[in-house]
Amino acid sequence: MMRGDERKGLFIGELARGCQLCFPGAKAVIFVTGTCDDACFYCPVSRERLYRDVMWVNEEPVSSLEELVIEVQRMGARGASITGGDPLTALDRVVGVLMALKENLGEDFHVHLYTTGRQATHEALRALRRAGLDEIRFHPTSPAFVKAVGRAREVGLQAGVEIPIAPRMEEWAKGIIERAMKLGASFVNLNEMEIAEPNARALLARGYRESRRRPFVVEGAYEAALRVLEWAQEKGYPVHFCPASFKDSVQTRNRFRRLAELDRRWYEEPTPEGTLRWTEEIGGKRVVVEAHPTRERTRVELGEEPPYD
Ligand code: SF4
Repeated sequence: MMRGDERKGLFIGELARGCQLCFPGAKAVIFVTGTCDDACFYCPVSRERLYRDVMWVNEEPVSSLEELVIEVQRMGARGASITGGDPLTALDRVVGVLMALKENLGEDFHVHLYTTGRQATHEALRALRRAGLDEIRFHPTSPAFVKAVGRAREVGLQAGVEIPIAPRMEEWAKGIIERAMKLGASFVNLNEMEIAEPNARALLARGYRESRRRPFVVEGAYEAALRVLEWAQEKGYPVHFCPASFKDSVQTRNRFRRLAELDRRWYEEPTPEGTLRWTEEIGGKRVVVEAHPTRERTRVELGEEPPYD
């Protein structure tokens, strides 16, 4: 049976553990490196990160494992997702990150990793498992990489696939899902294809357009996902459709709310949107100021404080 809704997501079967923690914004997003051996036309990674060997935790750049752990602790995360680029292009670093997370946050701290599978050899997967990885998600940029699902299962990892969906990609998606299920995948995530600054030109050149009904999303991506979900339902495959709006309106806002609550200074008030507000004296006037709970607190002046009653 299909559950959920168009805004928060639709799913058949159980959600992957990584997705269950993502919903309340309890996962830190660790961008472990921007290096990648692929060049997907739909790549949504910002050009200030893609192909650059940089590390970020959520919206903060970090330059050491120590700084990374502090940033994860600052938001009170209960788990993390490791992403990139392709994290397996920096395998040793990922192993270090996993060990540091498990050592400082405990064995129950859930970590999933997202990779193309291009470099997911038995040896690499065993190293990830030994370092404490709980779940791996493959975005196979070539059909040959789907085999990595089987290898991941053999070393004892929870494994599944996470792929984008848009019109004309349904048969490609079904092919990957069919093969992944035969190899022991326990979940499938379909990401509604976003259209944003990094990929807009390439998508427009291929005839894709932005949806009028669903901002920043490729026209027809939701309907394409529905067609794959209906097929998966008949087959009895556990497939989850993750709408692009979910990331902004639910996941990111919940993460900011969590961070604002935990990391506020004595004079800052959290708002329902996950920002912080306070009052400053500027030019003899009391002005209300707002910022996201990033370390830098990039502030926006909202105007004079309303008079007290
Ligand atoms: S594999 Fe991922 S990071 Fe690399 S180009 Fe494709 S979408 Fe971008």
